[in-house]
Amino acid sequence: MHDGKTNPAHGGRGKEKCLPAEADLFFDIHCHAMNMSHPCMIAFLTRCAKAIKELTLKELMSSINSLTKIKIIRELFEMAGSYKEAKNLLSVMENDTGSVFLLMEDCLLGKYGFDPPLLDRENGLFIGGSAYKKAVLTPLIMDFGSPAQQKLDTYYSVPAKKPVTEQIIDLFNGINKYLKKSECGFFEIYPFLGVNTRNYTRKKLEAVLNQYFAGFKPSRASLMDKSGAFSGDVKKLGAHSFAGIKVYPPLGFDPWPENEADELEKVNILYSLCEKNKIPVTAHCNDEGYATCGAAEAELYTSPARWENVLKNYPALKLNFAHFGRKALAPFSDWSTRICSLMYKYENVYADLSFNGFDPAYYVGLKAFLEKLPHKMSKIVPDKILFGSDFMMSLLKIESYSKYLSHFSASAHLDAETKKAFCSVNPNRFLFG
Ligand SMILES: [Zn+2]
Repeated sequence: MHDGKTNPAHGGRGKEKCLPAEADLFFDIHCHAMNMSHPCMIAFLTRCAKAIKELTLKELMSSINSLTKIKIIRELFEMAGSYKEAKNLLSVMENDTGSVFLLMEDCLLGKYGFDPPLLDRENGLFIGGSAYKKAVLTPLIMDFGSPAQQKLDTYYSVPAKKPVTEQIIDLFNGINKYLKKSECGFFEIYPFLGVNTRNYTRKKLEAVLNQYFAGFKPSRASLMDKSGAFSGDVKKLGAHSFAGIKVYPPLGFDPWPENEADELEKVNILYSLCEKNKIPVTAHCNDEGYATCGAAEAELYTSPARWENVLKNYPALKLNFAHFGRKALAPFSDWSTRICSLMYKYENVYADLSFNGFDPAYYVGLKAFLEKLPHKMSKIVPDKILFGSDFMMSLLKIESYSKYLSHFSASAHLDAETKKAFCSVNPNRFLFG
């Protein structure tokens, strides 16, 4: 055991060297480090099958005029593209969690061929005209474990249980492995705990929150001190093992279940602790992604409007709307606008750009969206935006971590100061402020 002051996982280096000035830190505020046992692969497979079914045999057999031919060829190409991307994603996901972090670092170092590499051992990571000495990753755990899952239409019809504890063990073992094996130790990794209050009784929820967040203060030094010291026993993971909490409404989490007294009591327990201890909360907020509840419920729970009563009751809550309210048909939707109003009204409301940045055109749209905001908001919103990659999920749309970061770095539609705000200044305030 160590003395709690110098963590042996960091190679016994002095704190000065471990803790570069916060201005030298790059943040990826939204990523995932899952392995094959964590997500619901059956749901993934069902989605692929649905895409294939949409290209119906009937359509193939129907009158082959040239327009139909073009449509079919285009769809076949799209499907082939998705296949390539899914294979690339699986090639990452088949690793253990520690190897995923090493792979991300190797990718930035150019070991997979990205040229020129974004990360240089001597000078750090070059993004948008600035060099960063270290990067903070906050991998988000998803609480998939739903007690009332439907039976499957397969011979083995009982769906696998996905206890969040197993993800926690894999993730913390992965952090240990990364810190031991990495040649340059470029990442500081501070996970977010996935919480779905519906999966807990009130008593159990209190016990979980108490274990991980009693006495929590947003402190990078305290998080770093814990990092890499996982013994294998989750019971020994105390405060400052996690940097925040992730909630995912389409898994049935209702941010404000006003008509269910027991559920409302549980979310109140969650928010009052988060507000009191300044625990950052990231809430999934786009209309895509994995869902276990019905479409209407998913839409209702995910909408930023559902957070209005939460913020009325907990106005100092640190809350990040992931994906900036993107909708499949509109990257800048009514949800995005609603988030901006909440940012204006409440000091600690943020939004991250994760996933969205797979397409460089997103930043063109972002610039236009910010320019169109009313003057009073346009001064505030850019200080509330956080850079995120949604790696490894973003591999469904883009081939590498380096490519995702380079789209942001190279975008001519955001100036250097804005980029620094999104990937360094703002997330630093969200996490440690
Ligand atoms: Zn995500």
